[in-house]
This record gives sequence, C-alpha cells and structure tokens, in this order.
Amino acid sequence: MATIELSRRQWGARSSLPRRGHLIGAARRTEVFVHHTVIVDDDASVNEWGDLAAVRAKMRQLQTIRPDLGKDVPYSMVAFCMANGDLVLCEGRGLERTGAHTIGHNRSALGIAFQGNFDRRPLPSHFDAQLASLGDWLRQLRRTRGFTRLGTVRPADRQVWAHRDIQSTRCPGGHLYRLERIRFIEEEDENMMDEATWKKVQIGLQALDPPLYAARPIDGQPGANTHRAVRAFERRVGFTPHGVMGPLGDPASGMWPATREILFASVFAPLRDHEHEVEIDRGPTPVTRVRVGKMRG
Ligand SMILES: [Zn+2]
Repeated sequence: MATIELSRRQWGARSSLPRRGHLIGAARRTEVFVHHTVIVDDDASVNEWGDLAAVRAKMRQLQTIRPDLGKDVPYSMVAFCMANGDLVLCEGRGLERTGAHTIGHNRSALGIAFQGNFDRRPLPSHFDAQLASLGDWLRQLRRTRGFTRLGTVRPADRQVWAHRDIQSTRCPGGHLYRLERIRFIEEEDENMMDEATWKKVQIGLQALDPPLYAARPIDGQPGANTHRAVRAFERRVGFTPHGVMGPLGDPASGMWPATREILFASVFAPLRDHEHEVEIDRGPTPVTRVRVGKMRG
C-alpha cells in the first residue's frame, strides 16, 4: 500500500485554464483542513477509486467544478482512496500556493479534500490505513519539506481540522469521522526546532545578563556551545539541566518543553522591566514563578 503523489503535469491539468493562488512559504502553513469533494464514483463503491485513469479524469473535472472560485482545483491537494489500498495525492492549487477551500484559512492552511461523498457509504475498504498514510505524508512535509510549523494550530483532540469545525457545512461528511487517525506530530516532534528558531535561541541566550552563549557566529545549529548554554540557562531558572535533547548537531533535536517555554516567554516577549519573571504551569503543581535574569540594555 503506497502513497503516490501526482503533480499537475502528471494528472494532466489542462494548461488552457489558469493556475490560481499566490505563492506562500511552507513555514507559514500552520494548519491542515480536511474536506470532501462530494464527487462520487459511479459504481457501488462510491468513495473508492479503481485506477489512475479514473483519478486523472476526476482531477480534470475538478479544475472547472467551482468556476466561482476561479476555474482551478480549490484545494491544496486531493486524496483518492484506491481499491488496492494505495493513497493517491494529486496536486491541486499545490503546497506552495494559497487555496480557496476554507474561508479565513486559505493562507495558513493546507486544504486536503478526499474525493468522494463521505455522507454516503460504503467507506473505502482500506480507509483507516489510508488515513494513517496521509498522516505519514504530512509528517514528511513537516520534517523534510519545510513545513516546520504545520499542525501547530489545531483542535484540542485532533491534529487536523474538519471543515465543519469552523463553518456551517456538512463537509467533510458524516462518515469521515476518523480524523483523529490522521497523526503527524509525535510528542518528541513538538520540541523540534528549525535553524531559524535555533538562531533565536542562541541570540536570546546571548542577550541575557550575564550572557550564556559565547560562540560567534551564531550558526543556528544545536552544537556543543548551545548545549552548554541551554544547560546553564536551565540551572539559572532552577530546572534540571537537560540541555539539548537528542544527539548534538541533529537539527531535529529540541529543547525540554518547559525550558523552551520559559526562554521564549522571557527573551522574546517585549520586556518592560530589566528584571523579568515568568509564570509557568508545571502540571499538578501550582503555577511557579521563575526569575530569569536581566536583559541587557
Ligand atoms: Zn469543505
């Protein structure tokens, strides 16, 4: 059971029709919205697709289905649950462009529509596995394709939104209720930081008085200097010094969540006073006030 990604060229987008949407950076995408297209297969398995020829034909149909939205596929991607268990993901507006799928979220969100009408049964026979495959594909976007903030804005009990969570609509249908199975953020990923964020951490540690980070240039990599400085910061605020989690130099390494929270709150929030205190909630213990130190200047 494979996940197959088809570009517009691969599914045969008609080039006589315009390409819609504006370019937008991957790191600005924070949400995933799930939809259904309401277009069904004309055999008994209405939400399941037989072969790539059917997929291509349906994608060309989607180019003109909502002329009010600009004669292009309105979704970022369209997902086809294939009878053999494959998940086929076709490029709609595309990952790098704004969509026309969810009012108010077309810049911040990737809109992924399942091809079918999920108010109708039967569901695809490999549906749960295909939902998991979509999660795996989203995880790859986050880890290797620059979508480092994807999923940071999400409902409390799931990692993706349903269209109907925020708008008065049936979309994505009454039977596409297994959205909690689309998982792409593991607990350890919550602490993952990209190079830009590491740079901010290092600059922040250097801005403290006395500074805890001495290395120049600030390279945005979690190496030995960063490790030492993070541990010193943790000692200063009274935490157990965990330092960098994961192997040094691994860009997927992160910081202990409470450390990151307090560092970001103290260094990157606008400061009015030289002396800064932050409140953090350490779970069952009541809120603790931690003195972070003086800011320079
Ligand atoms: Zn929708």
